[in-house]
Amino acid sequence: MTYAISKGEIIEYTWLGKEEGYKALEQEVIFKDLCCGCGNCEAVCPENVIKVSEFPELIGKCTNCGYCLMQCPRSFFSSEEAEEKLFGEITEDELGHIESKIGVRVKDEEIKKVVQDGGFVTAALKYLLEKNIIDGAVVSAKGEDNPWSPMAKLVVSPRELLESAGTRYTNSPNTAALKEAKEKGLKNLAIVGLPCQIEAVRKIQNYPIEDVDISDRIKLTISIFCSSNFMYDGLMNKLVQEKYRVPLKDIKKMDIKGKNVLVFTEKEEVKIPLKEAYTVKREPCKVCSDFTGRLADISAGAVGSPVGYTTVFARTKFAVKLLDDMLNFGIFETIELEEEKPGLGIARKLQMKKEKEASEYVRKRIKEVLPLPFKGLKF
Ligand SMILES: Cc1cc2nc3c(=O)[nH]c(=O)nc-3n(C[C@H](O)[C@H](O)[C@H](O)COP(=O)(O)OP(=O)(O)OC[C@H]3O[C@@H](n4cnc5c(N)ncnc54)[C@H](O)[C@@H]3O)c2cc1C
Ligand code: SF4
Ligand code: SF4
Ligand code: SF4
Repeated sequence: MTYAISKGEIIEYTWLGKEEGYKALEQEVIFKDLCCGCGNCEAVCPENVIKVSEFPELIGKCTNCGYCLMQCPRSFFSSEEAEEKLFGEITEDELGHIESKIGVRVKDEEIKKVVQDGGFVTAALKYLLEKNIIDGAVVSAKGEDNPWSPMAKLVVSPRELLESAGTRYTNSPNTAALKEAKEKGLKNLAIVGLPCQIEAVRKIQNYPIEDVDISDRIKLTISIFCSSNFMYDGLMNKLVQEKYRVPLKDIKKMDIKGKNVLVFTEKEEVKIPLKEAYTVKREPCKVCSDFTGRLADISAGAVGSPVGYTTVFARTKFAVKLLDDMLNFGIFETIELEEEKPGLGIARKLQMKKEKEASEYVRKRIKEVLPLPFKGLKF
């Protein structure tokens, strides 16, 4: 492994702005509404003084090492460079480089009960742990006091995976749990994340810092599809609880289908128009143009498959082999994904919509002389 960044260069980089250390992270990313809440800064801080929930917070004395800004995907990052490095080319297809694709539904009844769609993510991680292909999985789990307030979690046994199944529509700083994985000496990790969190992993891998010692441990990245994420207070307090009168303790599942956020309880299904939910969208999501996680080894989402199945794209050769092995092992029922409507056409449409909205927002920011992250935004 060659390390891309020397300590001297980090100091030089962080001196480019007016501030140093954590203040530079605030100045360059957080205060500029660019923080995607990934968790990288918490994972790499050698002093353990950053805690990310929705956004980072400084909880101790910063020594101005500069690692947090350096490893933040929203300080600088070229998604095109990362894509070329992974696949040897930049794919024209809206959905990115795909080697194989399939719709799957887990057969295990216990897993089926708790997952969001076809349970690919949970079942795949279980398989990888059981076969000792990985020694840990970094995921998002239900919050300890409040299941709808998610947290980053390192999982080392298949049993714990059930706590991470399902979707929470607010920020979970998944990559923060990479620190615990490193401290435990784990060497073969899988990480699940939103497309921005997979960019965060690629940032750590493509600009590795020796002391951080995380990049080589990550063997597999699984991205879940994402149109948008929401602020906890706005979505769960103001809309779900106050306006739509659903107590958090009654919620069994949340989902986004068509033009609504759906909140399921034992007795009813409450519809919150997406238009309303978008009023509490995370501001930094507005510069994001990746719907499927084109930098991941595997991408998984609901769109493209019938209800109850997960659409799965294997993007790298390693992912194709793993997916084939899982399918041969017989843990999933499968369906071929159709190219015709509604099939993957909807995924393409959502990708194009996300790109268009991001580029309009980027133009607006340029007009207002607001900063942008260094990304391969097309506009
Ligand atoms: C904010 C958000 C927006 C999404 N938008 C779309 C969309 O527009 N279209 C679409 O097809 N799919 C979307 N998804 C993905 C979808 O909800 C499912 O996660 C995906 O289809 C996989 O289903 P599964 O049954 O295989 O996953 P499961 O086996 O149930 O596993 C789900 C995994 O998701 C992870 N997870 C849950 N919540 C979060 C979170 N807040 N942050 C990071 N990781 C999390 C968990 O770690 C878990 O491993 C979104 C997910 C999130 C979190
Ligand atoms: S000690 Fe380093 S990584 Fe931690 S907050 Fe300060 S500059 Fe950032
Ligand atoms: S984008 Fe990630 S690394 Fe950057 S400030 Fe936010 S949580 Fe930290
Ligand atoms: S819209 Fe983009 S930035 Fe926002 S949570 Fe989804 S992947 Fe991350």
